[in-house]
Amino acid sequence: MMRSVLSTAIRSAKTASCMPKTQLRSLSSTAMRAHGQSLLTLSEDEEMMRDVVSRFAREVVQPKVSEMDETEKMDPQVIRSLFDAGLMGIETPADLGGSEASFLSAILVIEELAKVDPSVSVLCDVHNTLVNTVFRTYGSQEIQQKYLPQLSADKLGCFCLSEAASGSDAFALQTRAVEDGDYYVLNGSKMWITNSAEADVFLVFATVDPSLGYRGITCFVVEREMGIKIAKKEKKLGIRASSTCQLSLDDVRVPRSNILGEVGKGYKIAIEILNEGRIGIAAQMLGLAQGAFDNALPYLFERKQFGSRIGDFQGMQHQYAQIAVDIEAARLLTYNAARLKEEGKPFVKQAAMAKLYASQVAERASSRAVEWMGGLGFTRELPLEKFYRDCKIGAIYEGTSNIQLQTIAKILTKEYQ
Ligand SMILES: Cc1cc2nc3c(=O)[nH]c(=O)nc-3n(C[C@H](O)[C@H](O)[C@H](O)COP(=O)(O)OP(=O)(O)OC[C@H]3O[C@@H](n4cnc5c(N)ncnc54)[C@H](O)[C@@H]3O)c2cc1C
Repeated sequence: MMRSVLSTAIRSAKTASCMPKTQLRSLSSTAMRAHGQSLLTLSEDEEMMRDVVSRFAREVVQPKVSEMDETEKMDPQVIRSLFDAGLMGIETPADLGGSEASFLSAILVIEELAKVDPSVSVLCDVHNTLVNTVFRTYGSQEIQQKYLPQLSADKLGCFCLSEAASGSDAFALQTRAVEDGDYYVLNGSKMWITNSAEADVFLVFATVDPSLGYRGITCFVVEREMGIKIAKKEKKLGIRASSTCQLSLDDVRVPRSNILGEVGKGYKIAIEILNEGRIGIAAQMLGLAQGAFDNALPYLFERKQFGSRIGDFQGMQHQYAQIAVDIEAARLLTYNAARLKEEGKPFVKQAAMAKLYASQVAERASSRAVEWMGGLGFTRELPLEKFYRDCKIGAIYEGTSNIQLQTIAKILTKEYQ
C-alpha cells in the first residue's frame, strides 16, 4: 500500500508539471529558486520528495529499526520497498528507470531516512550518491543502459575502494587487475564495504600496474556472480543494520567492457565521487541530529522535576536552543554544498565543511538528547542511545574528520598564499 502511494506521489508530481524530462531535472533545482531565495527554499518536486520519504521512513522503516539494530541485519523488505518507492534511482533518468530528480532531492531523501534510521539512510546514500553517480557520470552508453535500470529496479550497489592497508591513503590500494585477452583478472581484498552483504553490483578499484602509482588505478563493474566473495561481516558500534564487509577477490574475471571510464583513471573517479558523496554523509548526520532532537524535545515539556517542566529550566533551555542553532547551521552548510554542486560551481571546500560540521553536530545533538531524557535516554527502550552510537561513523567514513580539515586547509592555502 505504502509502496504504491509513494511511487504514485513521486510520479504524479512529475506528470502534473507536464514538462519534458530534461526540464523536470532543472525544475527540481536551481531553476525553481529565484535569485535571493533562502537556502531552505525547495522546489515543489523537492518538497514532495521530502514529504513522501518522511512518511515512508515513519511507516515502512520505523517499525523495523529496533529489530534490525538488534539482529545487525537489514530487513530485505526494507530494501525492496526502497526500490519500489523509486528511491534507488533518484537522479537516474526516467528512461533508464529512475526518478530523474535533483541532487538536492537525493540529499533530502538521505536526511529524512536518517531521522528514523541512519543505517537505511546510508544504504540509500551509497547506492545513489556513489554507485549510481559513477555509472551516470563515467559509464559508456552501453554500461549505463545495462546497469542503471537494474540499479533502479532491484540490484543493490556498493563502492569498493578501501583495503586493510589503504584507508585515508586510499590510492595505496593493492588489489591487482591483470589483462587477459578480453578480460581482466582481479586478485586482492577490500575492507569496510557498505552494502556488500546484500549487493549485486560492486564498483571495484584495482591497479593495472602498481609501478604507475595512482595512475594505475582503474574502476571495474563486478557482478556478484563473477566470483567476488564476502570474507567477513564486521560487528560494529553503530549503523549495525548496514552491512560492512571484507571482500576477497580470487581470480575474478571481469570483461574489459566492464571498465568504468578509462584504464588508469579510477583515481579521478574516486576523488570526484567522494567529494560529492561527502554531502550525502553530511545529510545523513544532519538527519540523525534532527531525529535525536525531535525524539527528545517533547519529553522536556512532559517531564516534571522540582514542580516544573524540565524544559522550562534555564540550564535546559540554553542547551536545546544551542543544539537547534547547530542543526540549523549544519543544514545550511549541507544544502549550500548541494546547491553549489547542482549549479556547477566549486563545492569541494563546502562539502568538506558540511561533512565535518554535520558529524560534529550529530555527536553533540545525540549526546545531549540522551542526557535530556535522563535514565530513559540510556535505555534501549528509546531510539536515543542508538542515535548516539550511530553518529560516530560520521567522523570516519568517506574521509575522516582530519582528512576533511586537510582538504579545507589545502584549498585555503591556495586561496591565501
Ligand atoms: C562502517 C564503515 C563503512 C565504510 N564503508 C566504506 C565503503 O563503502 N567503501 C569504502 O571504500 N570504504 C568504506 N569505509 C572505509 C572508510 O572510508 C575508512 O575507514 C576511512 O577512510 C578511514 O580509513 P582507515 O579506517 O584505514 O583509517 P586510517 O586512514 O588508518 O586513519 C586512522 C586515523 O589516522 C588519521 N589520519 C590518517 N591520515 C592522516 C593525515 N594525513 N593527517 C591527519 N590524520 C590522519 C585519521 O584521521 C584517523 O583518525 C567504511 C568504513 C566504516 C567504518
